[in-house]
Amino acid sequence: MTKENIIDGKAFAEGLRGRIGTAVAEIKRARGSVPGLAVVLVGEDPASQVYVRNKALQTKEVGMNSLEHRLPASTSEADLLALIRRLNADPAVDGILVQLPLPKHVDSSKVLDAIDPDKDVDGFHIINVGRLATGMPGLVPCTPLGCLMLLKDRLGDLSGKRALVLGRSNIVGKPMAQLLLNENCTVTIAHSRTRDLPAECRGAEILVAAVGRPEMVRGDWVQPGAVVIDVGINRVERDGKARLVGDVAFAEAERVAGAITPVPGGVGPMTIACLLQNTLTAFRRRHGLAEK
Ligand code: NAP
Repeated sequence: MTKENIIDGKAFAEGLRGRIGTAVAEIKRARGSVPGLAVVLVGEDPASQVYVRNKALQTKEVGMNSLEHRLPASTSEADLLALIRRLNADPAVDGILVQLPLPKHVDSSKVLDAIDPDKDVDGFHIINVGRLATGMPGLVPCTPLGCLMLLKDRLGDLSGKRALVLGRSNIVGKPMAQLLLNENCTVTIAHSRTRDLPAECRGAEILVAAVGRPEMVRGDWVQPGAVVIDVGINRVERDGKARLVGDVAFAEAERVAGAITPVPGGVGPMTIACLLQNTLTAFRRRHGLAEK
């Protein structure tokens, strides 16, 4: 990608993984151990299998230990909770990630809330939600953390910027809005009941779209010069071919935006890189090391 207003998330994520790899190598030299990430996969969901494989691969690439727990779909909630308790107590485990969705007979929130908040590298535990909301140090959900890194890389100080987050899910929209608020942005959260969405979007200098609706945000919803972060990953069929598109009509928005993330190659690659960053952060905090 060469165009100046296109934010190359793939390249940024590569750079971030490189810095994490250097930090892990330093830790190994100094302490003889490396951070460990445990990933728990229950069942055979094909998309989840791909995610878990990629996570394990990238964990090993940065020199961390990848501990995979693949369990049959029939695994009981009690057995899963017992595994989480063992991982919580295991000193070799710094991060625990339970791949969602879980089978229907398992209460996902019960499982997620059983994870030690200091090992909760997905940042979904209610304690980490509270820490983020009150500005305390915690672990932050990976996708919004990645969006924030891209925004700060492009804009520097975000203080005073008018930001609009389109979508209010617990995993993207709400934590994204909290992160922007913590950066002193003036934040609006829009959702399916928002009136005159195009006008709300046009008021934003930073526009983060996380709706899961293919190309819903049109070019004329974007304020000239705004920075647009497109979180959406939507599979559509175009000319008989399967394609991935974002929540933003890229070709239209790219002509107006000051900067914009493409799909694919924008926010997507940042998510796993931030998972590794969170695992490194969890390791450093558990061992009383300075955070860089
Ligand atoms: P979600 O849980 O389905 O939430 C969607 C949000 O969009 C909801 O708050 C919903 O409003 C709002 N919305 C839906 N239709 C709308 C409309 N027509 N107008 C205004 N608001 C509307 O989705 P999510 O999990 O946040 O994910 C959003 C997108 O990001 C998806 O495409 C997903 O695949 C993608 N994603 C990407 C990554 C990544 O790694 N890059 C990670 C996570 C998610 P209400 O609350 O009013 O219903």
